[in-house]
Amino acid sequence: MTALQTYLAALAPGIDIVAGCAGMSEDQLCAAGAPNKTARTLLTLADALFAPTSFTRLQRQAVDAARDRAHPLPTLEVIERYAARAKTKRDAWRLRVELCRTAADTDEMEKLARKKLRELNPPTPPRPGVRIRRRKDAPWTLAITGPSSLIADLESSLDEDSPLDSVAELFSSTAASAADRPTITTNAIITLDELDRIIDGDGEEISIQLTNGARISGADLVSRTLAERGLITLVHPFEGAVNLYRTERMASEKQRLMAAAENPVCPWTDCNYPADKCQIHHLQAWQHGGDTNISNLATCCPYHNGVNDDDPNAPPIRGRLVRRRGRVVWQPPWADTAPTDT
Ligand SMILES: [Zn+2]
Repeated sequence: MTALQTYLAALAPGIDIVAGCAGMSEDQLCAAGAPNKTARTLLTLADALFAPTSFTRLQRQAVDAARDRAHPLPTLEVIERYAARAKTKRDAWRLRVELCRTAADTDEMEKLARKKLRELNPPTPPRPGVRIRRRKDAPWTLAITGPSSLIADLESSLDEDSPLDSVAELFSSTAASAADRPTITTNAIITLDELDRIIDGDGEEISIQLTNGARISGADLVSRTLAERGLITLVHPFEGAVNLYRTERMASEKQRLMAAAENPVCPWTDCNYPADKCQIHHLQAWQHGGDTNISNLATCCPYHNGVNDDDPNAPPIRGRLVRRRGRVVWQPPWADTAPTDT
């Protein structure tokens, strides 16, 4: 016999090979000459097919059927890979018995196993709703899941050649007709030096952060009707937010808008959580004497607001937000300097 013939002949009594390694350890199998990956595969099968179980009758039927059909090792591996994913032990054993009793080559067995498992574990239907995926420096995704009739209606009102424009038009006309729904005012943030450049016509080079987390170019900004869409808050490069609006709104609402304008996304390093959904964070905690004035306030996502080291006297764990040279930055826990406003 050639080595190939010996190998192929040895694959056939798969269930007897598995039975032979029941009770052995991976080390013992490797010492006996098994490559470690083969050892792990054999032990997985031995555990599944020969370990004590309360389903002794089904276990016996599966092992007998595997022997009768002379399923080679690769086919037993396929059977086990799917049986292991059944939701209950009983279902897993029934699936093993049914598959072991079937005469099928490995690929055919895989197809059958996949079909039977899907019958046992029907896929859960997707949840209706609207989900957004925000990416740093890449386009965002808005996914809508709902009744087929609604989605088909939406899709049919899109222009195939410029679907994005259609969506923008569709959404803005809906917003206009639903005047009594709560709306969020999005702030566009421009520092004074940038404003000079936009006014001078250099707008295309400037990227402006909005408090809903998106960015647009300065040129885009001036081409929009800002009065209809939101406010503009001016932020001094060193002093922070400058209030240019004499508004009658409550102080807290105004402060919220200004804080969002100063930090359009959570200022924690690499956090991109939009300010419109953020909480207002006291840089010096209220219970440690911090005031509710704009220089002491920052937007912060609920998660980072929760993990911020509020107590300046406690040992730092996750770091904290501090204001440095007019800007709110994350001070890592390993920074040994006390927060200063220099
Ligand atoms: Zn955050």
